[in-house]
Amino acid sequence: MIVEMKTGASKEEVAAVVEKARSLGLDVQLNLGTDKTVVALLGSNTGQIPTDIFAVLPGVESVTRIMKPYKLASREFKPGDSKVTCGDVEIGGKRIIVMAGPCAVENEKQLFDAAVAVRKAGARVLRGGAFKPRTSPFSFQGLRKAGLELLAKVRKETGMPVVTEVVEPKDVKLVSSYADLLQIGSRNMQNYALLTNAGRSSCPVVLKRGFSCTITEWLTAADYLLAEGNSVVLCERGIRTFEDSVRFSLDISAVPVLKKSSHLPVIVDPSHAAGHYSLVPAIAKAAVAAGADGLLIEVHPNPKEALVDGLQSLSPSDFTRLMKELKVVAESVGRYI
Ligand code: PEP
Ligand code: MN
Repeated sequence: MIVEMKTGASKEEVAAVVEKARSLGLDVQLNLGTDKTVVALLGSNTGQIPTDIFAVLPGVESVTRIMKPYKLASREFKPGDSKVTCGDVEIGGKRIIVMAGPCAVENEKQLFDAAVAVRKAGARVLRGGAFKPRTSPFSFQGLRKAGLELLAKVRKETGMPVVTEVVEPKDVKLVSSYADLLQIGSRNMQNYALLTNAGRSSCPVVLKRGFSCTITEWLTAADYLLAEGNSVVLCERGIRTFEDSVRFSLDISAVPVLKKSSHLPVIVDPSHAAGHYSLVPAIAKAAVAAGADGLLIEVHPNPKEALVDGLQSLSPSDFTRLMKELKVVAESVGRYI
């Protein structure tokens, strides 16, 4: 249930709503806007509580039941766009934020060369997996802590903030102590223990879409992170369909749908959707044209030698060319890179 306070409602009036909600056993999340306060009332029994109990209180403008299962991620709760910051990078503003780098951290030279190349081409955030959630237990699982240390070293050398994946709830603290942004991967979108722990991290979270999950399930998963007080960036990375000419079908319509139903920034990963480097540029450009706030792109200094996802990784020269093309697309939709 969402209680919208009148413009200029007093602190006491807001407090009375909060007190009433708590007395009914509800959890309360406050969104204190510059002129309007919106109060979200959360609990499994909200459906049984009459809205009039709140509507009659002084200073209340309206009370709306939210039938959607997600609340905190919804536009009803926060009408304005959210921006997520990490270092001097702001995701969700006019600037399109490109995050790029290898699928997995392999060694210092590979990571450093990738970082220098993507930074030169205009990427603002370095990506690289230290913990890799592999479909097969026999595939390379990542360098783990040693990979995190390399990310921190290269961040220091290049000044680029890093985004890296956390796979297990117990590793949230460790990964947060090295990362600037935590990535929760497609396979873990509904790992609620991981979401709750990551929600308590000091690093904002890039939440990738589960490849068999609906947008509603995705936003409801985002609520787990938001309920713990963290910030979230949503990342569309393709879903499983009957189509097998690409690795996953990028749901381009997810971008405008999310923009309509949620206040959270949205980025797109064209690499895991495409599965092939030759398809990445077109999908990336389509994502920016559709209104994405950023991109997450795999770039490897030598894709042919990559330990993971080499076929879908761009070479530094392909990435540089793409960045030039993206600039034109961004400008055509009133953004810049
Ligand atoms: C990744 O970004 O390296 C990754 C594993 O992506 P996803 O979780 O989308 O498969
Ligand atoms: Mn990958």
